[in-house]
Amino acid sequence: MGTSTPSTTPHVHTIAVAHGDGIGPEIMRATLRVLEAAAAPLRFDTVEIGERAYLEGHTSGIPSEAWDRIREHRVLLKAPITTPQGGGYKSLNVTLRKSLNLFANVRQARAFAPFVSSPHPAMDVVIVRENEEDLYAGIEHQQTREVTQVLKLISRPGSERIVRYAFEYARAYGRKRVTCMSKPNIMKLTDGLFQRVFEEIAAEYPDIHADHMIVDIGAARLASEPLAFDVIVTLNLYGDILSDITAQLAGSVGLAGSANVGSQAAMFEAIHGSAPDIAGQGIANPSGLLMAAVQMLVHLGEGAVAERIENAWLVTLEDGVHTGDVYRHGVSRERVGTDAFADAVIERLGRVPEQLHKAHYGADAIKVEANATPASRKALVGVDVFLDWSAEGRVPDALGARLERAAGPAGWRLEMVTNRGVKVYPGGMAETFCTDHWRCRLTPDGGGETTFDEVLTLLAAIHGADLEVIKTEHLYTFDGVPGFSLGQGQ
Ligand code: NAD
Repeated sequence: MGTSTPSTTPHVHTIAVAHGDGIGPEIMRATLRVLEAAAAPLRFDTVEIGERAYLEGHTSGIPSEAWDRIREHRVLLKAPITTPQGGGYKSLNVTLRKSLNLFANVRQARAFAPFVSSPHPAMDVVIVRENEEDLYAGIEHQQTREVTQVLKLISRPGSERIVRYAFEYARAYGRKRVTCMSKPNIMKLTDGLFQRVFEEIAAEYPDIHADHMIVDIGAARLASEPLAFDVIVTLNLYGDILSDITAQLAGSVGLAGSANVGSQAAMFEAIHGSAPDIAGQGIANPSGLLMAAVQMLVHLGEGAVAERIENAWLVTLEDGVHTGDVYRHGVSRERVGTDAFADAVIERLGRVPEQLHKAHYGADAIKVEANATPASRKALVGVDVFLDWSAEGRVPDALGARLERAAGPAGWRLEMVTNRGVKVYPGGMAETFCTDHWRCRLTPDGGGETTFDEVLTLLAAIHGADLEVIKTEHLYTFDGVPGFSLGQGQ
């Protein structure tokens, strides 16, 4: 009597595929051929986004049918897209990222020396960049004739998700160290929160070495000793700058993939553009998109196939089968076009590299959620009132006296006035340059808590003293801890 083995049907993931513009269709065809040859459990659903859609009248570059399919499948493999001449849609990537809540941007900067020349031959750094918050919320104002501002928003759930993602990524990709870069010495509340969250979450991953660096010295060290880094997790703006620096340092811009990941959806693409100068010639290097597809497979929990493809690709590089962009006389053996490069990778499926670092991925899909923010008691203890004021020769003592005359009878005490963050009243220095933008910190007489109604009474009194209020910020404590910074010199 024979024994029967239960048949297991592998799960097939349907993904949206955008063939893109310029070299996009050529490199996508090559990438899909490799995925099929490696028996990746994928089904492809083509969506039309980019230049053609734009020229057909879809101003955002993304027709609604494409949106529906991307949202249905939740994973998009995207070839590069040409930004239409004369403006057109601003950035299709920003639209996709923000609309789909893709909070993590992951870019690897890796050198493949001696097979591909690089200024830092052993470099292999991954930047995990927060993609939605920070100065990119786009909340900017001009408040006075002289002063503009942008709001930097950093949230606990946003920080937690990106930091957790960096540690989960490190585990999935067999990496040993996660370095957080921020500037909490200057931005104690915003960057300070990011660093605190990093330290809390690092404690949950004892298998991974965690450290924090101030971003300025961190960036300098990264530029001079990139080999000292493994995974870097950072805020949106720092990540934007650092990922461009590392891409250049590794010397492999044409070989790198990038992932934009959210809790509901994810998008994978090469970091280069649509290269219209070589489009249609069959010579483009498909490696960046292929490596993005490898990241996609790891994200889907298909680590074994990802590993097989990446290892075959590394063997192809080691064998000197190179496209024109990386071909170097004396190092490369054979100069090939896009399709022949894909054939060379397919022929090498099942082999592992001898010199380059072998790929090894786990089988778990990367998934992260933020915990609920802990409850705390929030209390209103004062207000910062911002004024546009240029009268009386901008002498801070004159402003201080006027404010005290207005606020005192309303039951408020003037703690200080700052100009661009520097305390100028009481006891400022004559040398401090003053713009027309003043922050005046007021607390209830006798201290303690206050109410919104009392703040309104104060504002009416300040307005009645002929001072122009341009904005207010409430001062809160959370479980007794001040949720606001002190003025420089306070
Ligand atoms: P690019 O990356 O397309 O090209 C820069 C140079 O690198 C060119 O000389 C090009 O021939 C070469 N190159 C790029 N990819 C290559 C590859 N795979 N193989 C061989 N050589 C390659 O940058 P660009 O010229 O500034 O931009 C072209 C278009 O792409 C623009 O419309 C731009 O807006 C768009 N773009 C799109 C994305 C995206 O879709 N994510 C990213 C960047 C640029």
